[in-house]
Amino acid sequence: MRIGIIGAGQLGQMLGFAAAEIGLDCEFLDPSDSPPAADCGHVIRAPFDSHTALETLAANCDIVTYEFENVPVGALAAIDGQLPIYPPPEALRHAQDRLAEKRLFESLDIPLPGFAVVDSRDDIDNAIESLGLPIVIKTRRLGYDGKGQFVLRDASQADEAWQAVGNSALIAEQWVAFDFEVSVIGVRNTEGEVAVYPLTRNEHSNGILHTSRAPVEAPELAALGGRYMNRLLEHLDYVGVLALELFVADGKLLANEFAPRVHNSGHWTIEGAETSQFVNHLLAICGRQPGPTSVRGHAGMLNLIGRIPEAARELPHGELHDYGKTERPGRKLGHITVVADTAFERDRLLADIEQSVTQST
Ligand code: AMP
Repeated sequence: MRIGIIGAGQLGQMLGFAAAEIGLDCEFLDPSDSPPAADCGHVIRAPFDSHTALETLAANCDIVTYEFENVPVGALAAIDGQLPIYPPPEALRHAQDRLAEKRLFESLDIPLPGFAVVDSRDDIDNAIESLGLPIVIKTRRLGYDGKGQFVLRDASQADEAWQAVGNSALIAEQWVAFDFEVSVIGVRNTEGEVAVYPLTRNEHSNGILHTSRAPVEAPELAALGGRYMNRLLEHLDYVGVLALELFVADGKLLANEFAPRVHNSGHWTIEGAETSQFVNHLLAICGRQPGPTSVRGHAGMLNLIGRIPEAARELPHGELHDYGKTERPGRKLGHITVVADTAFERDRLLADIEQSVTQST
C-alpha cells in the first residue's frame, strides 16, 4: 500500500521511517528544494495547492494524509472522493481558524480560556473590557509556534498591538497564569477504535516547544484529557493521530489548540512508547488496529532549535534525531529523546543533556 503525504518536513520524514517499519511505501508533495523526507520516498516538488500535483499524488497512492496543518482545504477538494483523505478535511478546517476551533471546544464542553473576536481596533478595547488583562491577541489563521501573537498587559498597548497584528482577522484570549502545559495525543482508526497516549507535559520557550515529558503522574488530569480527546475524535469522525494542547491551571484543564496530525510533543513515543505516534497514525489510516500506547518507563524529549551543536552528537545518553535541515535561528532541526526507569532519572538525564547542548552553543 502506498501512502501519499502532503508535506515532506521532519514529520513527513518520521512518518516515512515508520512506514518502512510496517511495510508501507510513501510518496510526498512538498515545494522545498531538499525536504527532510526526501530519503523516505519520491517527492513531487510543487506547491501544496497545485491541483496537478495533488492529482498525481492521488493517482499514485491509495490513501492521502498530511503532516502540517496549513494545507489549503480548498485545494484538497480537487482529490476529495477519489481516495480517502485522513484526517478528515473538516478537522483541518477547524484547526486552521482559531475561532472555529474555539467554538468547537465550546460546543463539546471542553473548557477553554475566555476569548473575543477582534475585527477592529475598537474590538481590542472591548476585549480588554470583557476579558480583563492580560490578554493575548492572536491571528486567527496561519499562526504557529507563538507567531502572529501579541500579549497585552496594559491597555496603553492596544495601538501597538493593532499595528503589530491588525492586518489579519484576530481573536483575543485571556492570558492564563498556568501551572504547566500538557498535551494529549490520541489516535482513531477507520473502524472508530481509539487509543490515547499518556499525558505529556510540555515546556515552551519563546512560543516554541522546548521539552516534553511523559507520563504526567496525575491520573485525574490524564482521565479528563482523555475524555476531551475522545469527544473531539468522535465528533470529527476523526481518523489518524490528533494532538490536543491544554493549560493546567488550578487543577483544571483549559484547551489551547489542537493539531490534526502527528505532533512534536509526541516525538518521545518513538523510543518511549510501545508504538510510536507515527506508526499509529499509519495503522489508523490504513484501518488497522492501533498499537499499544503505554510508555516504557519515563520518557523525555529536548528539541534542538537553530543549530545542532557537536556535543549533541557525542552524548553518552539519549537518542539524537537529526532532520538534516540547514541551520537557521528558531528552526526545529532535531530532537533528543531519553527513556529512564524513574521520572527523577529522566529529568536528570534531560538536565545533563540540556547543559551539554547549551554550553557548546
Ligand atoms: P499557541 O501558538 O497558541 O500554541 O501559543 C504558543 C505558546 O504561547 C503556548 O504553548 C503557551 O506557552 C503560550 N500561550 C499561548 N496562548 C496563551 C494564553 N492564552 N495564556 C498563556 N500562555 C499562552
